[in-house]
Amino acid sequence: MEFSLNSEQKLLEDNVRKFAQREVAPLAATIDREARFPVENFKKMGEMGLLGITVPQAWGGAGGTYLDMMIATEELAAACTSTAVAFAANATLFNDNVVHNGSETIKRKYLPGTSAGDLIGGIAMTEPDTGSDVVSMRTSARREGDYYVLNGTKILITNGPIGDVFIVYAKTDPLQGSNGISAFVVEATFPGFRRGKTFAKLGWRGSPTGELVFEDCLVPAENLLGSLNRGIVVLMSGLNSERVVMGALSVGLARGAYEAALRYAQERHQFGQPLVAFQLIQEKLVTIAMHLEMARLLVYKGAVLMDGGHRGRQANLVASYAKLFASEMCMAATTEAVQILGGYGFTQDYPVERMMRDAKIHTIGGGTSEIQKMIIMRALLEGPQLD
Ligand SMILES: Cc1cc2nc3c(=O)[nH]c(=O)nc-3n(C[C@H](O)[C@H](O)[C@H](O)COP(=O)(O)OP(=O)(O)OC[C@H]3O[C@@H](n4cnc5c(N)ncnc54)[C@H](O)[C@@H]3O)c2cc1C
Repeated sequence: MEFSLNSEQKLLEDNVRKFAQREVAPLAATIDREARFPVENFKKMGEMGLLGITVPQAWGGAGGTYLDMMIATEELAAACTSTAVAFAANATLFNDNVVHNGSETIKRKYLPGTSAGDLIGGIAMTEPDTGSDVVSMRTSARREGDYYVLNGTKILITNGPIGDVFIVYAKTDPLQGSNGISAFVVEATFPGFRRGKTFAKLGWRGSPTGELVFEDCLVPAENLLGSLNRGIVVLMSGLNSERVVMGALSVGLARGAYEAALRYAQERHQFGQPLVAFQLIQEKLVTIAMHLEMARLLVYKGAVLMDGGHRGRQANLVASYAKLFASEMCMAATTEAVQILGGYGFTQDYPVERMMRDAKIHTIGGGTSEIQKMIIMRALLEGPQLD
């Protein structure tokens, strides 16, 4: 067991940290205030090879590992969570999923564009009436000649208002429950695709979230992702990787808040001493730092499992541990960071106010904390499983 990053991973960490601190962090407050997609950061991440970080070079990617993805995600999220989400939605939710489940045709068609930052990707599972109970989705797809015809509505979709290409889950055999779901790659230009409302949000304000409507939407049959009626495999393995990357987003965001709070506690004086001299403030900083380290270890463990090819049942437990622990830690850490900054912490003069707002969605998106507890309990009852 080796706990330190190798020289290539350290180099990646260093490069992304420099980019994040020099170019991404200075834009974070503006992106949040204007609620706009960080298009300039997105383009640069494409040029740097980050968006296709786990995509093999044959399809325009950098050929890296899932652990590389976690390292990059943490650095970006520490600077600007909305930019990190733009990265993760493209690199993990779309690209990594297509790498593992796509046909050669799909990979060749989409991955070069989504890796370069010329196309923006996303995934669409959630519907107006089905969120946590995703398997009860109502969007349908029926085969007609060389096409599948999709009907239904997806909501709360990251990149929905601006994305070019989405992995969309639909029922192809509605009577078969989870065994009647299929996944499709749907372009925003396909006939019958329409964007609905854009949601105004508490946090992640630079990551646009929207509704997608499919009205007899024509999807070429070759855009089926994975096997017909086996979309649940694509969905569940995708959720496992999403949960690990949500863990990394949480670690990065919490680290950003910790660093801001530590800096402030060293500079701000009360009662003739810096705040950091007070033991009650020290206790907060120690707790955040220790929980950060614990969350990062879980995220890395999840990523190493993914890199070892375990994306199914064995990954469930660790992915849910990582997601649950890191997201709850992030909410607590950002809240404590605001507390350490006192009144200034509540204002937009300092970044911790934005960070605390950004943190809340981490305990909800990609499966809520309650759902993670259900998954963990089920896995504990089933016992360890290798897949
Ligand atoms: C900013 C943002 C971005 C998102 N991006 C995407 C995206 O890109 N793609 C996508 O498909 N979706 C996306 N989502 C949707 C997100 O994944 C869902 O909101 C989430 O899975 C929860 O579903 P829900 O909102 O329908 O809540 P519900 O399922 O209605 O749950 C409501 C509450 O009930 C609890 N609950 C539900 N079932 C149980 C149970 N059995 N036991 C105990 N408690 C339970 C939940 O934990 C929660 O607290 C996004 C959401 C947001 C806010």
